[in-house]
Amino acid sequence: MNSNHTIEPIAHIKTPFNEKFGIPRQPNLCKAKGVVTLTTNFNSMQAVKGLERHSHIWLLFLFDQNLDKGWKPSVRPPRLGGNEKVGVFATRSTFRPNGIGMSVVNLISVKQVDNQIVIEVEGVDLVNNTPIIDIKPYIPYSDSVVNATSEMANDAPEAQLDVFFSKTANNSIECLNIGVEFITLIGDVLKQDPRPSYKQNKPDTKVYGIALEEFNITWQVTDKKCEVLNVEPI
Ligand code: SAM
Repeated sequence: MNSNHTIEPIAHIKTPFNEKFGIPRQPNLCKAKGVVTLTTNFNSMQAVKGLERHSHIWLLFLFDQNLDKGWKPSVRPPRLGGNEKVGVFATRSTFRPNGIGMSVVNLISVKQVDNQIVIEVEGVDLVNNTPIIDIKPYIPYSDSVVNATSEMANDAPEAQLDVFFSKTANNSIECLNIGVEFITLIGDVLKQDPRPSYKQNKPDTKVYGIALEEFNITWQVTDKKCEVLNVEPI
């Protein structure tokens, strides 16, 4: 038995999220698109034949931005308000042995563009350029467990903030000719309240920034209202 197996990324994914901060905590909380590009050794049409017959796929990936930070046996999940410690294996923490993440996403298309296989997906919660270590179809009869329960995260988190755009932000959006899909993405990301749990439910005057695609979005929260202050090219 060989239990020391080396894992090689089979693909990388392009996403709108340039940094960890602000990414939804699970897939399908916003309609962020991703483009998976198979790496040279795995860029084979044979390997993806039939994938398009599935509406959703699992992406197994490396939390590569945390791999050098090791893992912690106890973590404070945001869903428990950041106050309660539970075991890493009871959570979806990104600081885990082997650093493996899994997200189910909507499959939009599988194409070959100039000999490169690209897989378009929607609903991602991954940082731009995250290494993908496997792709598997989502199998509804087995992966969807009708009577499953979780005391920690049974239902999708509710929107935490009302998001509105300042005059400056609206002017920038107009000048930069930003489309409705991107504006919706900004709203969907911010309404989850990306701030750390200890900042929520307290007065907070900090101006936050999130880098989405090629824009820096600045925003501030007052009384559960999130004002987008500006949208500027990075
Ligand atoms: N759905 C996956 C899972 O359950 O394994 C990920 C859940 S994890 C709680 C989601 C968070 O992972 C995102 O909010 C983002 O901050 C972080 N993340 C995404 N891609 C990452 C990467 N490549 N390296 C480190 N952290 C990442």
